[in-house]
Amino acid sequence: MKLPADGFTFPGIGTRVVFGSQTLARVGEEVERLGNKQAFVLSTPHQTEQAQSLATQLGALSAGSFSEAAMHTPVEVTERAIESFRRSGADCVVSIGGGSTIGLGKGIATRTGANQIAIPTSYAGSEMTDILGETKDGLKTTRRDASIRPETVIYDVDLTLTLPAEMTVTSSLNAIAHGVEALYAPDANPVISLMSVEAMKAFKAGLPVLREAPQDREARSLVLYGAWLCSTALGAVTMSLHHKLAHTLGGSFNTPHAETHAILLPHTASFNAVATDALAPLHDIFGATPGAGLWDFAREAGAPLALSDLGLSEADLDRASEIAVKNKYSNPRPFSQDDIRALLQAAWEGRRPEH
Ligand code: NAD
Repeated sequence: MKLPADGFTFPGIGTRVVFGSQTLARVGEEVERLGNKQAFVLSTPHQTEQAQSLATQLGALSAGSFSEAAMHTPVEVTERAIESFRRSGADCVVSIGGGSTIGLGKGIATRTGANQIAIPTSYAGSEMTDILGETKDGLKTTRRDASIRPETVIYDVDLTLTLPAEMTVTSSLNAIAHGVEALYAPDANPVISLMSVEAMKAFKAGLPVLREAPQDREARSLVLYGAWLCSTALGAVTMSLHHKLAHTLGGSFNTPHAETHAILLPHTASFNAVATDALAPLHDIFGATPGAGLWDFAREAGAPLALSDLGLSEADLDRASEIAVKNKYSNPRPFSQDDIRALLQAAWEGRRPEH
């Protein structure tokens, strides 16, 4: 074991976490524990029924629901939701869904000071972070602030049984990307690294089972546990090249969030593996070099492997590599625009990385 030579800072984990099966039944208890009187339940249109049923379950502790959460957290939706939230008289928000719904809850909480309970039903990992990405007039801005972080997170494995097969895989790889970047983060610390390695072991054990048996509760629990750990890592340390590239492609070319992460991850891990030994634990977990091991794992899980499948052209790669080197950000391996262009080419072709 080697500790960082300059010591480290552990930021603390300020969110209360309830994890298990049938934990949805405990939402009312958690609303009261926060000292709140009435909750406003949020979801996407797709999960309206779930939100309404939760509002019914909460009875007098519910002030209503709003089911218009959308991808990329558009500010105009948040403003409409805040109007309904204020009219309802609620004093806290409960977000049930994936990253889009949790993003809406964060947008309301940071503007109104309301407490938040997040109930994630995907593995994207927004729930444990103080990060909010929003879009206004086609522009995406991302910020970090303590008022954005949910007070309580309830993980209920039963809610993940309905997650479609494809999203199960891409959302898991989206989560693993947070764990991988946490290992070589400029502010990495031994506790978050432990959590990240534990998360990858959980995904390695659980995800292949879900391909054959999507309803397997034990495997679903392992994967959700991994998602919690990775979300914690995302909320505790700084992300690097992988996230920059994923946001460049998502922001400028509108590629789908989880799929973009899934395809890029083996290539960014491979690129950085030659410059840091922080990724060494991946050898044991995935059975090959970090890039090749993650690529094999993704392929066996049935993940998309090539950026060309997302409708990107080779000319798009030229523009993406230009955008990606405009601003400075941390990364264990220095890079030029040509390096990024070569990395994107390999991801576009879906090649198995070497390192
Ligand atoms: P999403 O929330 O947009 O969900 C996609 C669809 O799947 C929605 O229709 C949703 O209702 C549905 N869904 C979710 N869980 C389901 C389930 N169990 N069963 C059936 N359907 C289900 O997608 P996502 O991948 O969860 O989140 C992506 C968004 O989250 C992106 O906008 C991303 O930027 C954001 N995000 C933010 C952070 C952060 O820290 N701020 C972290 C990770 C992701």
